[in-house]
Amino acid sequence: MENYDVLIVGGSTTGSYLAQGLASRGHKVLVIDKNPQNKIGSKYDIFHIAKPEFARFRLPMPIQGEDLAFEFTGSEAYSAFGHYPKAGNGTVIGMHMHAYTLRLNRWAISAGAEYRYETRFIDLTYKAGRITGAKISQNGEEKIIKAQLVADCSGIPSVVRTKLPDGYGVENFVIGPKDMF
Ligand SMILES: Cc1cc2nc3c(=O)[nH]c(=O)nc-3n(C[C@H](O)[C@H](O)[C@H](O)COP(=O)(O)OP(=O)(O)OC[C@H]3O[C@@H](n4cnc5c(N)ncnc54)[C@H](O)[C@@H]3O)c2cc1C
Repeated sequence: MENYDVLIVGGSTTGSYLAQGLASRGHKVLVIDKNPQNKIGSKYDIFHIAKPEFARFRLPMPIQGEDLAFEFTGSEAYSAFGHYPKAGNGTVIGMHMHAYTLRLNRWAISAGAEYRYETRFIDLTYKAGRITGAKISQNGEEKIIKAQLVADCSGIPSVVRTKLPDGYGVENFVIGPKDMF
């Protein structure tokens, strides 16, 4: 059995941000993601963030030729029938999601977090009704990871939250196709 302070399930944007924050504060952090490293953060390509948010959240900046796709200032958005234009004056940065996610992974690793790709969360483990960690599958081998905190950063599927038993005090419903964009 392996011991960590925090097990983070999902190593994309949310998981990496949390991992960096906790590892840099001295916590022993393991991040697992079911995707291989060359697929992580590749559910779509371009995503954008308002430029001031990088400083606000201390995020690493994307780099031209690596993960930076574009930067522009000023935009116009229109309501459905085009009657209500709304001007935006801020600067927006567009990034290639896979490459930027890898940058976030490296950022968290350099803070001390450990990453395991192709490693899938299976279920939570309990002792006397309290969560003690999780059962994971790595290279087809099942392992128990002991952790004081298991963080669900698996996105919409919420693979950890939806495994919680009824009556645990947390909503454990599964988000269905009709609820998704
Ligand atoms: C079309 C579209 C465009 C968008 N554009 C923008 C944009 O421009 N700017 C913006 O800020 N946001 C945008 N968003 C929203 C943004 O993509 C999400 O908010 C963000 O990806 C959520 O990140 P996450 O890390 O929480 O989840 P995800 O990116 O979904 O990552 C979850 C991770 O968990 C892993 N995982 C899942 N199940 C398991 C398991 N059982 N075991 C281990 N790992 C598991 C997955 O492999 C994945 O890597 C957009 C969303 C969509 C759909």
